[in-house]
Amino acid sequence: MLRTEVLIVGGGPAGSACAWQLKQHGVEFILLDRAEFPRPKVCAGWVTPRVLRDIQLDPAAYPGNFSVFNQFLIELKGLRFTLQTRQYAIRRVEFDQWLINRVRAQVITHQVKEIRQEGEYYLVDEEYRARYLIGAGGTNCPVKRALFEPEGQPVRGSLIVAQEEEFVYPGASRLCHLWFLQQGLPGYAWYFPKSENVVNVGVGGSAARLKERGDTLRHHWELLTERLYAYGLVRDHPFNPLGHSYYLRAAQPLLRKGNALLIGDALGVSTLDMGEGIGPSIQSGINAATAIINHTPYTLDGISRYSFPSLLRLQR
Ligand SMILES: Cc1cc2nc3c(=O)[nH]c(=O)nc-3n(C[C@H](O)[C@H](O)[C@H](O)COP(=O)(O)OP(=O)(O)OC[C@H]3O[C@@H](n4cnc5c(N)ncnc54)[C@H](O)[C@@H]3O)c2cc1C
Repeated sequence: MLRTEVLIVGGGPAGSACAWQLKQHGVEFILLDRAEFPRPKVCAGWVTPRVLRDIQLDPAAYPGNFSVFNQFLIELKGLRFTLQTRQYAIRRVEFDQWLINRVRAQVITHQVKEIRQEGEYYLVDEEYRARYLIGAGGTNCPVKRALFEPEGQPVRGSLIVAQEEEFVYPGASRLCHLWFLQQGLPGYAWYFPKSENVVNVGVGGSAARLKERGDTLRHHWELLTERLYAYGLVRDHPFNPLGHSYYLRAAQPLLRKGNALLIGDALGVSTLDMGEGIGPSIQSGINAATAIINHTPYTLDGISRYSFPSLLRLQR
């Protein structure tokens, strides 16, 4: 049995940010992930200036694919405009590995199955024992399932379904396109170019509203590929998208039960307008670690519910 103060289940941005904060304060932890790193993650990889500040990422020292945008080309119900904004893009397979490397902690490859409480400790698969348990295992986090449901069940209406594909496309356009609420999509579609001719294209929207309309995400994926062709952005590419789902932030999520704390997608912290999850996941990881370190309440204070206001702030 491995004993530790804090056991973190999941090594995505939420879990690694939490580990980073604990490490800086000398708190002992073990980080588990079912996947071996570097691991792929279905995600467009858009990050905001705040993410860079929160994790102290210096673009000049970042070893992976890193892109800077000064504008987004937006279409909203047929209305076209340009939004001047400074934003960034990374590739998740590299970014998540970089976050882990920075913690200088070993990620133990282990798929968590069973969690139980014994006195003031949490026992995981009869192999790990910890005083604090961090649920950072994403949408289907085992900590959430074992300890927080049914009362901590996310609000069904806040489920976002998304599909994307990231691939190399020689001669890719460098402009970032976002299409909001087009052709009945309760969400948005994107064309996100990165450096070295890597492109990420995708579509995401409210699962409940698609169902209400008798519509499917697959249909909107097909509309997106037609649009990419019509705009001359992607032609002659055999598309093969991957899908994933996650929850937007609830009004009053159940953050903590005893010494078990949920962070990132396990909690559902993505912004209500853009479904931005990387930044809020990192911030929730830092807030949870801070609560453990200082013995203070765990809150989502300082984590924005919306992305748009910060997009409108020019940060150069
Ligand atoms: C198509 C798509 C596009 C997106 N685009 C963006 C974007 O451009 N910008 C943005 O800000 N957000 C985006 N998001 C949201 C963003 O990807 C998530 O909010 C973010 O990854 C959440 O981070 P996390 O650390 O909470 O979870 P994750 O990154 O999902 O990490 C969870 C980890 O837990 C591990 N795990 C799961 N179960 C177990 C288990 N039983 N035992 C051990 N380990 C386990 C997994 O292997 C994984 O490594 C997108 C989401 C989707 C679906």
